[in-house]
Amino acid sequence: MRAQTFPRTSLTMLRVGHCVHPECLALRGGAWRSGTFPALVGLIRHPDAGAILFDTGYSEHFEHATARFPERLYRWTTPVTLPANECLQPQLARHGIALHEVHHVFASHLHADHIAGLRDLPRATIWHGASALRAARAAGRIARLRKATLLDLLPDDFDARGSAIESLPASALPHAWRALGDGFDLLGDGSLRAVPLPGHARGHFGLLLRHEDDREYLLAGDATWRIGHAASRTARASAWPTRLLADDWAAQRDTLSKLQRVLDATDDSRCVLPSHCADSYARLPVAMRGTP
Ligand SMILES: [Zn+2]
Repeated sequence: MRAQTFPRTSLTMLRVGHCVHPECLALRGGAWRSGTFPALVGLIRHPDAGAILFDTGYSEHFEHATARFPERLYRWTTPVTLPANECLQPQLARHGIALHEVHHVFASHLHADHIAGLRDLPRATIWHGASALRAARAAGRIARLRKATLLDLLPDDFDARGSAIESLPASALPHAWRALGDGFDLLGDGSLRAVPLPGHARGHFGLLLRHEDDREYLLAGDATWRIGHAASRTARASAWPTRLLADDWAAQRDTLSKLQRVLDATDDSRCVLPSHCADSYARLPVAMRGTP
């Protein structure tokens, strides 16, 4: 019964920094031309729980965390652009929200481009994969770096504010999303469900919600890099350089094929939104595109 409860929330997507690099480095079969890969953040407004973020995108903390070697190599391999108008604080302010008014952050995984802004959100509970945190802390400095993880980005009081997704109640996902297994009910009202999307990183989760317009959105993190144009809706696989980053390539491929099954079986009332897909952002209704 629980799976049928699906209260609506409001979703606005923000572009919080971006990288520009040849598409073929990220997308299987991609071209040599340069592509823009935004770091997308979901601003969710819940009627009772207030402002919630899906990931944080980049911040100046990324600069600090990569100032020294060997971490500086990370900055060299993914040159980041963070113009003033893409910083999180002014963007939230434009939507009437101060940083300390963000009540929860959902960390899809602990790669730096998804959590670099955590230190700027002093009051937020942080939903994260327990296995993601365990893996990050168990790895040595170089192994962590190879997996795009920078422990300096975690707030000093992370353990006090963290909430392990896997310890929340699990339940069947709404019908159209069943191929992805059970979800974890974040607030206990069925409005926000964490969806396991294993493979790209240890403890990698997407977030399923229903927007005000009744459309269902799966914020898919890095489970896929791009969703093809509206007619084909093909979830694109990663190219070999990003596969090197994968926690478990076989699991990532399996997740991708499950996502494709969901896309094939549904219509435009459901949307899969990858974290770095400029096309998916451009296809959103104007009111949901929060970054000019
Ligand atoms: Zn990632």
